Order: sequence, then structure tokens, then C-alpha cells
Amino acid sequence: MHYLLLRNRIKNLYDRAKLVLAKLLNDVETLDSIKNIPGAEIFSGLTQDLELTAYRNMVDFQEYYNSTLDKRLAVEKYFASKYKNKISWIFKGYCQWCERDTDFLADWRYSDGVLPNYRERLVCSYCGLNNRQRFVGDYLKKLLKNRKEVFRIYCYEQVTNFYQHMARYLSNADFTGSEYLGHNKKNGEIIAGIRHEDALSLSFDSGLFDFIISNDVYEHVPDVKIALGEAYRCLKKNGVLIFSIPFFVDERITKQRVTINEEGEMIHLFPEQYHGNPLSQKGSLVFYDFGWDILDYCKEKGFKDVYMVAYYSLFYGYIGNGMQFIFCAEK
Ligand SMILES: [Zn+2]
Repeated sequence: MHYLLLRNRIKNLYDRAKLVLAKLLNDVETLDSIKNIPGAEIFSGLTQDLELTAYRNMVDFQEYYNSTLDKRLAVEKYFASKYKNKISWIFKGYCQWCERDTDFLADWRYSDGVLPNYRERLVCSYCGLNNRQRFVGDYLKKLLKNRKEVFRIYCYEQVTNFYQHMARYLSNADFTGSEYLGHNKKNGEIIAGIRHEDALSLSFDSGLFDFIISNDVYEHVPDVKIALGEAYRCLKKNGVLIFSIPFFVDERITKQRVTINEEGEMIHLFPEQYHGNPLSQKGSLVFYDFGWDILDYCKEKGFKDVYMVAYYSLFYGYIGNGMQFIFCAEK
């Protein structure tokens, strides 16, 4: 087994211990237990509380978002306050990826200390996938469902739980995954079973894939427009790029945090920020804080339809920041 996979297994064990602890202490929330907390009326449908809508511009989205934001945040803050001195707690719910009732693990990992980072957590006790990974997995699964053909899918990750699950359980998918293994590696090279690809210069033929999946990758590439252009090139006609990014929902314009000058040196326009990376202790440098013009970036590269999918649900473990998002760009 590759040592990176082993490291992931160890992380999973740590989450498992946190689940056991929360159960022992009975720190468990159910839809019944939250009924009377302020703001919880937005979950009135209980088992059918999934909200899922596509938006193609900021104005349409914000009208809806702002009208319900306070209630969503009130619920999220309620749990933050209730469990502020706890290591972990559980939301009882249903994992759409696993298609079964489950316990979602919540804790303070990756958080700012004020609100839990629900987007990166709410780890399902069965599949071990977090909030955003479960949603992308289920979204893809539904697109493939009841289709006879085998779909070619590329995903910018390979050592992750997400990749392992998608490659193993989506039966009509032919999955290719890769990691960025360093600037001195050749695109397409396979090192200890892991494929190296640079998002700015993919080694794949044009028109190869039905879907490309990118989970929080584009904020880490030095030139996102080139990366989007490469994704477009490698997709078949009518192929779909599905991507998640840290998204600044109130910002029209993307903020570039780092540029690279003619000498190839990085110029930091804002304080350096790093996100967790399974391949690096230091983490990955953040180049962009994305705003709504990410939709225009995609269109400039040729995508014919580009939209944000906004979703939110307590029962399905999709809470955080008042709304969760992925993006789709169709060639
Ligand atoms: Zn699951």
C-alpha cells in the first residue's frame, strides 16, 4: 500500500475514535432534538429538507440566499455554542452517497475556532467522506444512474478517500485520477502507482472525458484560466466539468492572492494562506479567492453553460456558511 493511502487510513481511525467518544458522551443530535432551536423552522420538511437550485448569476442567488441566511446561521451557531468545549459530536442523518442512515461526525478540525468547518467535516461514519465530497459523489452518481454506457471520468486526485470510493463504487465509470507530485515530474508519469499531472498542462488527448471532477483544486493553481482551458480541451463535446472551490459568495470579482513575475518568482499580494494537502505537510498555497466571475472565466474558455448548484440540508449533512455550493460547466 502506498504510504499516502496508509496515512489516510490513520486519519480515518482518528475520526472513528471521535465518533465513539461522541456516542459515549451522548453528544448526538437528531432532527427531533433540534426542532425547537431558533432558526430550525427552515428544516421544516425534515426528511425532505434538501434544497438544491442552480444559479447563473449573483443577483438571483442573493435574493434567495439573503432572505434565509440568518436562520441558517442561527442553527449553525447554536451547535457551535452548545459544543464549544467538546471534542466531537454527531448529527444523525442520511448519507446520499452510501444510501443509508448514518452518523455525521462534527468537530473543530480546520475551523476558525468560532464556527465549526462544517464544509470540511460532517464525515459519514460509513464512507468516511466529508460534507462536500459526499455531495459531489452523489451528484455524479445521479448523473450516471440508469445510463448504459461507461463514462470516462478524470479527477484531480488519486490518494484520497473520495477517489477510492468513486473508482470502486461507480460501476459505469472508467476513472482516472492523478496528483501533483512536483515540478520536476513528467505529466502522465506514474510513480509508485500514483499518476502525476499538472492541471496547467494535462497529458491527456483532447476530447477524452465525459466528466472532469475537481474538488478544491483550482484555488491552488497559479493560473486558473489555463487550468479551465485544459479541462475544456480534455472534455468530450457535452462533457461536464464539476468543481468545488472555496467561494466568496458576496464577491463579484475574484481576488488573486499571488502572481508570478517574469523571473518566475511568486509575488504575494495578500498574506500567504495554505490549505491541507495529503501530499504536503506545509499544505497548498492559495492563489485565488473566487467570486462570481468564475462563471465568466469558464465561458471565456468556451463552456456553453455554466452554473452554481447551491444546496443545503441538515438531514443529508450539507450545512455550513448558510449554504453550500458546487459549480458545473458544460462543453
Ligand atoms: Zn456515507
